[in-house]
Amino acid sequence: APAVDEALLAGLNPQQREAVQYRGPALLIVAGAGSGKTSVLTRRIASLIAGREAWPSQILAITFTNKAAAEMRERVQQLVGGAADGMWISTFHSACVRILRRQAEVMGLKSAFTIYDSADSRALLKRIIKELEVDTLGLTVPSVAGRISKLKNELTDVDTFARQANADDPAEVAFLEVFRRYTEGLRRANALDFDDLIAETVHLFRAFPEVAALYQRRFRHVLVDEYQDTNHAQYALVRELTRPIKPEHVPDDTRMRVDATGGIPGASLTVVGDSDQSIYAFRGADIRNIVEFERDFPEAKVILLEQNYRSTQNILDAANAVIAQNFDRQSKNLFTTVGSGERITGFTGYSAYDEAQFVADEIQKLHEAGAAYKDMAVFFRVNSQTRALEDILIRAAIPYRIAGGTKFYERAEIKDAMAYLIQVANPADDLALRRIMNTPKRGIGPATEAALQAHADRLGMPLRESLREADQLGLGPKVTKAILDLGQVLDEVEAMVPTSPPADVLTELLVRTGYVDALRATRDPQDEVRAENVEELLSFTKEFAKRNPEGRLVDFLTEVALVAAADEIDDASGTVTLMTLHTAKGLEYDTVFLTGIEEDLLPHRISAGEPGGVAEERRLFYVGITRAKKRLYLSLAMTRSQFGDTSVAMPSRFLQDVPAHLIDWRQSPGMANSYGGSRSRALNAGRPRQSFSYSTSLPPAPAREKREWTSAVTGAVRDNGDLTLAPGDRIRHTDFGEGRVVDVTGQAPKAVAEVQFDTAGRKRLLVKIAPIEKL
Ligand code: ATP
Ligand code: MG
Repeated sequence: APAVDEALLAGLNPQQREAVQYRGPALLIVAGAGSGKTSVLTRRIASLIAGREAWPSQILAITFTNKAAAEMRERVQQLVGGAADGMWISTFHSACVRILRRQAEVMGLKSAFTIYDSADSRALLKRIIKELEVDTLGLTVPSVAGRISKLKNELTDVDTFARQANADDPAEVAFLEVFRRYTEGLRRANALDFDDLIAETVHLFRAFPEVAALYQRRFRHVLVDEYQDTNHAQYALVRELTRPIKPEHVPDDTRMRVDATGGIPGASLTVVGDSDQSIYAFRGADIRNIVEFERDFPEAKVILLEQNYRSTQNILDAANAVIAQNFDRQSKNLFTTVGSGERITGFTGYSAYDEAQFVADEIQKLHEAGAAYKDMAVFFRVNSQTRALEDILIRAAIPYRIAGGTKFYERAEIKDAMAYLIQVANPADDLALRRIMNTPKRGIGPATEAALQAHADRLGMPLRESLREADQLGLGPKVTKAILDLGQVLDEVEAMVPTSPPADVLTELLVRTGYVDALRATRDPQDEVRAENVEELLSFTKEFAKRNPEGRLVDFLTEVALVAAADEIDDASGTVTLMTLHTAKGLEYDTVFLTGIEEDLLPHRISAGEPGGVAEERRLFYVGITRAKKRLYLSLAMTRSQFGDTSVAMPSRFLQDVPAHLIDWRQSPGMANSYGGSRSRALNAGRPRQSFSYSTSLPPAPAREKREWTSAVTGAVRDNGDLTLAPGDRIRHTDFGEGRVVDVTGQAPKAVAEVQFDTAGRKRLLVKIAPIEKL
């Protein structure tokens, strides 16, 4: 009904309206950041459903994260009411897992296959490389993992690779053998790695056209967000899903409209993207997918959006100026009607701690002025940058979260508990069993494990089955009993799996294998924390059961396997979010801090040396800038420690591309000089004379409260005890030398001294932990 349509179109500009209303086989929406691409996609789905052009079950929408998927689903539900059930809105990976679990048998897999994360893949590769003794040929785990991933993203499986490999090159031959064994290892374990999820679905569709036709008939509208970051395998998947259906795959009783030949035209395809935001080339994303869309889909309609609804004009001007430096792009200029807004704030710190202190101070100021923590985000290029940021934020008592930092699921005790779950869901997974075989300690040492493995290999069965036959191996009576007991517990719990919620399965495992008791029995305080973490996992399984009353163990394992970094962001949590620039894609915040805008970090040292690397890093900078709605901060440090070395950092070349009048440098020691200047000039000329700087080289934070999801900082803690300082006192600082206390504010342990150093300018120091002594 037109009334419904009008409501759905409310507030859209003419191009956006057209993008929602256009009907045809293929639609490409190309537009800059914040121009409403994701919003338009959502309304388009709503309009298809509201206009009864499609059942919700006929829609497949692909998003960048599970969280984005959940949001899109909710938005559609708001727009069209509860009719949205049955829609597939998910990431590529989740959609493929759903398909593969259903079609596993066709592929010779069991439906409860394990999804190997990169740590699992690496563990398997490590074993293989060791077994084959090929590390001498320069085959390292990361290089092999990267190469296999790339091949899979290009849909080159091991047999295809074997045909094209150079048989005269020993390294190549060795790599092929590793690849082959890796593939076999996965198969034996009834496991797929991340890249397989996509690639195997494509192979499935190509090998079994009747299976492909099932999905082609089902999904009549395929929509893909962030299309610029699809890799070849994902592109191929989209093509398979949208192919016309051949007459032989059209059932006699079809209610769909057949064409003259008796076939059914392919699903309609809508893709939205921004080639300026392509930032995953290192993972195989292919910008050509967007550039060549019009060639692949000659009937495609293209719509451009240019009005930005997210950011102020100053922020957009900066973004436009930065991205304009990339060649080979269609120029587009974003504009907004919200006005120029505040200027961008620039800050140069003496060290990363100094920079972090600035960020913390600004966050605190904004918070006191009424801004919510959840509307602020701090972005960084590499994870090691979080160390200084976390230290200072904890000290400033600013609540924060790191999206994708030290992942909860990467902790040893959580991996143990998950390995137990995986082993009962998928008994063929030897990797999981090896992990838990002697955890907690049962006296099953490496020699015993080897004997069990040899027995399994001899009979060509999973390791798990050899547990049951332990009494045939001539092992000692005690260890034999331990193995048989373990086997029995696993078998009994496995029997519960089909009918029990995951929480019950986990409880049973943890109790009956003695895992939790073992953690509780030690005096190690770390084990107490570990026990708490395991409890936390248990409460996740319960939460999961609430959301998915019918959910079984494999569903839980799937969900865990597929959490992406951005999925961990909890908007309601009232915390500042810290994340990498890569994770920030598609998100928006009132206030954004872009930290470490330095050479070697952004552009990153490794990328800068690669063809196209600088252009990709510039896009990453562009993505970062365009996340900001109202306030943008660009900060850097003059020295930075990485891998244990402290070195002089140079301002990023990208800073020169931001028009000077847009930035208000709060503190830019020597910025003007440091461009093109020598390294020493950057440091010396840059020393602040008048303005404040903050204490640097702070040692790691004191014992911190338990913060799930955030990483812990280890190391010794400096503590000056109850040292009191008064104006006039002279002190010595390990970095800044001697100075005189000018002022002291606050009470211990939070007392802050303002110190006029003889040569290093004025600094503010946290008395309790600054590396100082009173003279
Ligand atoms: P990105 O490239 O970063 O993914 P995008 O193009 O997907 O951005 P959206 O996230 O859809 O952009 O929209 C950016 C912001 O603008 C959102 O807050 C959205 O609600 C808002 N917005 C989009 N279109 C309109 C409009 N016509 N009127 C008002 N606000 C809009
Ligand atoms: Mg978007």
